[in-house]
Amino acid sequence: MFSKELLAWHDVHARDLPWRGERDPYKIWISEIMLQQTTTQTVKGYYARFLAAFPTVRALADAPEEDVLKLWEGLGYYSRARNLQKAARIVAREMDGRLPDTAEALKKLPGIGDYTAGAIASMAFDRPELAMDGNLTRVLARLTAEDGCVGDAAVRKRLRAAGGALIDPDRPGDFNQAMMGLGRLVCLPGSPKCGECPVSGRCAAHARGVEKELPVMPPKIEKKTERRGVALVLCGGRVLVRRRPADALLGGLWEFPNFRDAMDVSSLAECLAELGVAARGGRRLLSASHVFTHLVWKMEGFLFAADALPEGESLRAVDGAGLSALPMPTAMRAFREKAAKLLQ
Ligand code: SF4
Repeated sequence: MFSKELLAWHDVHARDLPWRGERDPYKIWISEIMLQQTTTQTVKGYYARFLAAFPTVRALADAPEEDVLKLWEGLGYYSRARNLQKAARIVAREMDGRLPDTAEALKKLPGIGDYTAGAIASMAFDRPELAMDGNLTRVLARLTAEDGCVGDAAVRKRLRAAGGALIDPDRPGDFNQAMMGLGRLVCLPGSPKCGECPVSGRCAAHARGVEKELPVMPPKIEKKTERRGVALVLCGGRVLVRRRPADALLGGLWEFPNFRDAMDVSSLAECLAELGVAARGGRRLLSASHVFTHLVWKMEGFLFAADALPEGESLRAVDGAGLSALPMPTAMRAFREKAAKLLQ
């Protein structure tokens, strides 16, 4: 039987991770959200720090958003953190602090999609639900020799049905983890190691010799490039920072004011004037770039001085200590380091 062979392999090869064997739905939820788009190695440290700061749903619900974002700093995809807290507030206030125990109900919470709902429902509540991540999708496409594009809804539905028929009802959480492990260690994207595969005898792609041609992936989206001028405006041992709008990319995080296509001193000074900053001087400081999923920022940083800096809900003038306490995206790292030196 497929699942028995797979689980026997998993029992030998499963990695020892901080969340392995975890049954607490809250902790599984945190680990699964962090693991989206982020490597296991990176997540380990964040997971421990996050749970130390917010050990329960209620602790997360009651925390200031800025504290949550600060602990997420560097993990990227910050909407994950904001949605996590939004959902925690719903669970704490409307569900008596207990996560729902079905995939359907979990999916109604902010930030919980098909994958995360399947992972929590199967690992915490033993529901026979698939957690279809990239690994599961690839493995299932090969097992069934699916030659349609895995980006198509109809193909995904077929793969989900095929996976649902294979899932072990006694160990659904382990089944999902075993499939992910198989995808990570054996059924690799470019060159699957079919010789080491515990289920090679049940794999249609391997039987037909087409495993390297599958899965059929959607065409890659070309990344757009944005040029942005970044202003470090200093005034009396403080530097100006701005909070990004909640619904924008990197929403809720702090940054140095930066503006699209304002790549010289006079354009930046004009943009700063619109923020109410009378910036003087202007000297090129450094260049940096940052790659997002669909976007690249090419940035030029300039140093300005001002006699006064505006303060408000989304604008602050901070000293060195204040700067290091704010949650800032990795995209700003080079500028933050420069500003910290200038403020010393
Ligand atoms: S036999 Fe090869 S292609 Fe098929 S599941 Fe195993 S590793 Fe993947």
